[in-house]
Amino acid sequence: MNIDKFYDSIKACRFCFMCRHLSGVGNVTFREADTPRIRAAMLYGVTLDNSKLANADFIDTIYSSDLSAACRFHCVNSFDENGMVLAARRDIVEAGLAPADVLALAETSKSIDAKPKISGNGETLYYIDSCTASAASEYKAFDKIMKKAGVKYRVAKGGNTGKILETLGFAADSAQKAAEFADAVNKSGAKTIVVSNPAAYDSLANDFKARGVKLIPKVMHASEFLLQLKVKFAKKAGKIYYLESDFLKNYNSNLKFPRELLRKLGAEAAEFGTNSEESYTCGEGAVVLDKLRPNIVEKMAKYVEERADNPNADKIVVASPYTKIQLSKNSKLKVYTLTELAAACI
Ligand code: SF4
Repeated sequence: MNIDKFYDSIKACRFCFMCRHLSGVGNVTFREADTPRIRAAMLYGVTLDNSKLANADFIDTIYSSDLSAACRFHCVNSFDENGMVLAARRDIVEAGLAPADVLALAETSKSIDAKPKISGNGETLYYIDSCTASAASEYKAFDKIMKKAGVKYRVAKGGNTGKILETLGFAADSAQKAAEFADAVNKSGAKTIVVSNPAAYDSLANDFKARGVKLIPKVMHASEFLLQLKVKFAKKAGKIYYLESDFLKNYNSNLKFPRELLRKLGAEAAEFGTNSEESYTCGEGAVVLDKLRPNIVEKMAKYVEERADNPNADKIVVASPYTKIQLSKNSKLKVYTLTELAAACI
């Protein structure tokens, strides 16, 4: 079983309370099951008796995880609570036990052509995945900055990197989509592919390598790309609250570029909430938690709103279009992406 590779983490986490406050789902459901310790305890039970994999409550809990990876990132021993949950999802799928809502999402994702539509000219390819496409202001802001910088670029729109399938536990289908996506991008001849959505960035930067899929262009998150442009940001961003991205922080060794961009924009980043370890992304790491558990995501957005100093006026900045969409839909917070903030500073 896939979870066997995480046996040491499972044994350690099942008796540990240390990171229970970092389960974004547990913080709003108040269910003991939604904590790293109990998820690990249930997985330990599965290692002793594989038939427990079919337990409906167990499956519900595994697919309710927000997968922020905050627990792994902040664990003093780097035990991988996040990895064991993803492995459990693969085991559930491979045993033919995926629940109906997960199957429906996977079938929809499988039906999407992996190859993006590529248009325009230039060595740089800006990837607009379906999540970024849902936040039109994000790519309009990118376009505004590129025009100011005088840089021509191509756009790759749509397609399917396999990230949703990967997160839901459909590893083989995900690998196939990744290979088809990479083939289309490699044939484009682009030297750099720029990605706004941290989930898509993680897919191209990490999932592809893990699946043995070669992507020729250099992968850059939009924050890294914007930093190297010769553009004058005349206006200062001023006081903001930056909510870290699960994928850029916890999955990618705390990528430094978002904070460097904020400094370049003259942002004065104030501390948000009660600690700097929690995820305030509304389930960015689970990619489609808004579709699987919309009521939980709504509560997560309210949880974030309750921690704002002044919800009506605070300038909240995020990296992920997913988080912007969820907070804008379910709270009164004023939310900007990093790219939107940069465009507003021109
Ligand atoms: S990830 Fe680390 S801190 Fe969290 S439950 Fe496991 S051992 Fe404890």
